[in-house]
Amino acid sequence: MDFTVSEKAQTIVEMINEFVGKELVPLEPEFSKRPFVELLPVLQEKRRMVKQMELWAPPHPPEYGGMGLDLVEFALVSEALGGTPLGHYVFGCQAPDAGNIEILHLYGTEEQKEKYLRPLVNGDIRSCFSMTEVDMPGSNPVMLDTAAVKDGDHYVINGHKWYTSSADGARFAIVMAVTNPEAPPYLRASMFIVPTDTSGFNLVRNISIMGHEGSDWASHAEILYQSCRVPKENLLGGEGQGFVMAQERLGPGRIHHCMRWIGICNRVFALMCSRAQKRVIAPDRMLSSRQIVQAWIAECAADIQAARLMVLHAAWKMQSLGTKAARHEISMIKFFAANVLQKVLDRALQVHGGLGMSDDTLISFYYRMERAARIYDGVDEVHKVSLARRILSEYEGKTVR
Ligand SMILES: Cc1cc2nc3c(=O)[nH]c(=O)nc-3n(C[C@H](O)[C@H](O)[C@H](O)COP(=O)(O)OP(=O)(O)OC[C@H]3O[C@@H](n4cnc5c(N)ncnc54)[C@H](O)[C@@H]3O)c2cc1C
Repeated sequence: MDFTVSEKAQTIVEMINEFVGKELVPLEPEFSKRPFVELLPVLQEKRRMVKQMELWAPPHPPEYGGMGLDLVEFALVSEALGGTPLGHYVFGCQAPDAGNIEILHLYGTEEQKEKYLRPLVNGDIRSCFSMTEVDMPGSNPVMLDTAAVKDGDHYVINGHKWYTSSADGARFAIVMAVTNPEAPPYLRASMFIVPTDTSGFNLVRNISIMGHEGSDWASHAEILYQSCRVPKENLLGGEGQGFVMAQERLGPGRIHHCMRWIGICNRVFALMCSRAQKRVIAPDRMLSSRQIVQAWIAECAADIQAARLMVLHAAWKMQSLGTKAARHEISMIKFFAANVLQKVLDRALQVHGGLGMSDDTLISFYYRMERAARIYDGVDEVHKVSLARRILSEYEGKTVR
């Protein structure tokens, strides 16, 4: 088994690490204190620098201005970018745009690609993905209330969504709505491109998340679709293809997220070790001299390593054998890596004591915002249950000695 990282990936990761340390880490105190929207001018400048370095949009198609990295290469890049909350945004590969780019690239018509995909990859506009509903369980996505009804050359969309991340300031939403209510559950829904200036697209509010409303890209909106009328050309893929496309969107997205979480783990793990080595807790004694802290450090190091190897292996399997062959691995990494992230964040915060609770380090920001890792893109429990069912089905009727 060869764990060598290609020279190309190694060089890109080194360039990113240098840029993150020099250009983005110094911006973090501002990021923690000020609304995201106020940072846009300086971030725009950093984005220009990234484009000049030819590191823009690493996973996206080269014919639309991306670098076209493969999944394993991008996994390593996503880890490096995860070392700062600004990384993915400044390098043009942030969620939810990254997933929308994938869908548009795979299923968009030529016209949709020119109108929406090209400016999206270029970072001229942003988008959002609107699936989860206020009154329906997101964990069972076939239960959707939002409907799109055909009316001549248009569809008319009505529904109540929330947690549409980054809707504030987005140019368009990709909206999941039921078009074929009588079809089998997984063939009922379709996706639509809905420009956010369409009459009937009503952004009710940015939801306050653990005390923070956020703004612009760093926000999560509640949206009412009220007789929102879009031309039939805005249907993405075919009628009833919504869930097939959603699956397509989520597969690579899980690799991106999990490796971003590993990047966060690396960052807070370094903070934890450095604090333990510096904090005097008794005359001539550092916090790092305590065995309980040593045990936490050893456990976190092993957990991060395990999660990292699992995710890289899943990326390799998806890339070489396809998404279907990697179903087990994709479910496993989603809940495993999310829980490693929670554990490492919690330990790092504890080691920092009162400092950990303050906003003087990044730990409290990550602790607050990344709790959601166990909820979005499939809640822990659903991933565990579906993985267990698939494993158990392999034993059905078998006698094991
Ligand atoms: C920060 C954040 C960003 C998000 N961004 C987006 C976005 O951009 N677009 C979008 O459409 N959605 C987004 N979501 C929504 C997310 O996908 C849903 O919250 C998620 O699918 C869970 O749905 P729900 O909130 O309706 O929880 P519910 O379905 O009500 O589930 C509640 C809880 O029930 C338990 N549960 C559910 N099913 C089972 C089961 N089978 N067995 C055992 N226990 C179970 C789980 O513990 C779960 O957490 C985001 C959410 C968050 C928190």
